[in-house]
Amino acid sequence: MKKKVAIIGGGIVGSSAAYFLNCLPNNDKIDVTLFDDGQGQATMAAAGIISPWLSKRRNKKWYQLAKDGAKLIAKIAVDTNMNSETYANNGTIITRKNADDLTNLFELAKKRKLEAPQMGSIEILTKEEITKKIPIINKPLYDGLFISGGARIEGGFFCRHLLNIAQKNNLKILKGKTTFQDDHNLEYKHQIYYFDKIIVATGAWAKQTLAPLGIKCKIRAQKGQLIEVKVPSFKNDQKMPVMMPESEFDLIPLGQGKLIIGATHDNEQQFDLNIEKSVTNHLITTAHHFVTGISTNDVIMERVGTRAYTNDYAPFFGTIPGHDSILVGSGLGSSGLTTGPLVGKFLAELVCNEKLNFAHYRKPIGQYIS
Ligand SMILES: Cc1cc2nc3c(=O)[nH]c(=O)nc-3n(C[C@H](O)[C@H](O)[C@H](O)COP(=O)(O)OP(=O)(O)OC[C@H]3O[C@@H](n4cnc5c(N)ncnc54)[C@H](O)[C@@H]3O)c2cc1C
Repeated sequence: MKKKVAIIGGGIVGSSAAYFLNCLPNNDKIDVTLFDDGQGQATMAAAGIISPWLSKRRNKKWYQLAKDGAKLIAKIAVDTNMNSETYANNGTIITRKNADDLTNLFELAKKRKLEAPQMGSIEILTKEEITKKIPIINKPLYDGLFISGGARIEGGFFCRHLLNIAQKNNLKILKGKTTFQDDHNLEYKHQIYYFDKIIVATGAWAKQTLAPLGIKCKIRAQKGQLIEVKVPSFKNDQKMPVMMPESEFDLIPLGQGKLIIGATHDNEQQFDLNIEKSVTNHLITTAHHFVTGISTNDVIMERVGTRAYTNDYAPFFGTIPGHDSILVGSGLGSSGLTTGPLVGKFLAELVCNEKLNFAHYRKPIGQYIS
């Protein structure tokens, strides 16, 4: 008998879990069904910056997850022959207002690189050198640090790419919402489906997904919005790094004069998916600090998604205590495109081996689930 595995949620965690379940040596003994509603998905809305190494966060387990997550993404891109619209390794530039802060950042980067060689080359750039590397940003305010290993993924394309691969093997996808009936049964479009294992990868909706089983999940939702502009008459098509200015929104060049600006972090609005024009205006005003000649008329896309946060901002994943058939991965916050593929991989591995120990990467799951 084949093992029946369900994945609820087709964002980066669910799609990565599906991909890795298709890579397992015994994949021919596993049937995987992925359910995805898609509404408000954080993955599709995300800016896609993969550059965790200089984060100020003190949580060492989170850092291990993010550092190894960034490395895994680069490996997946090579292994699966991803195109440059899906994964682009053009580097990141992080600016600092204060020269001493920049020197400190440089020292930290050199230290971190000892354990993360994928950071690549690290160099301090003057404002003029920044403009040469990112000509679309024609008036950078401060000097910055360039890290060649920084990358960007387009979350929606990344998931589609992985799901396409898995669908050729052991994956079936059902679009729409599913609901728990009990620890092994899901209801989908008025039918009940039995599964040996169920992976909950519903991001900010994990609380609602698990509620019918009486399981409490300590996460909160946060709205994020960003915009994409087409900078008028910008023709240069060179590959450009992502720019992360201090205390400002990030600027992500996409080629063909397109630039993403964002993203916001709105705790009040939670699951609200409305695009707010006042936010769009604010993002454009901020971008004026760095780019001349753009206005709200140049906005070609606005995206909104819902992030999931835990109280200590750390993701959680694993088998739910007292519910051996159910695994969960959520709470990925603002760096979930970076950590999500590794969380998905670990969940896929746990489906076949419950004894795996990930203490290096996570706190006990009981801190987030009861
Ligand atoms: C605006 C924005 C910018 C961001 N920028 C970055 C960035 O630059 N770098 C970075 O690393 N991270 C970034 N993030 C964070 C990252 O996008 C998220 O942490 C990550 O995508 C979460 O992935 P997930 O798979 O857990 O959840 P999601 O991507 O939200 O996927 C969950 C899926 O489950 C579905 N679902 C929910 N309930 C059900 C149900 N009952 N049945 C079926 N399906 C269901 C949802 O519809 C959704 O499709 C950003 C997020 C936002 C919103």
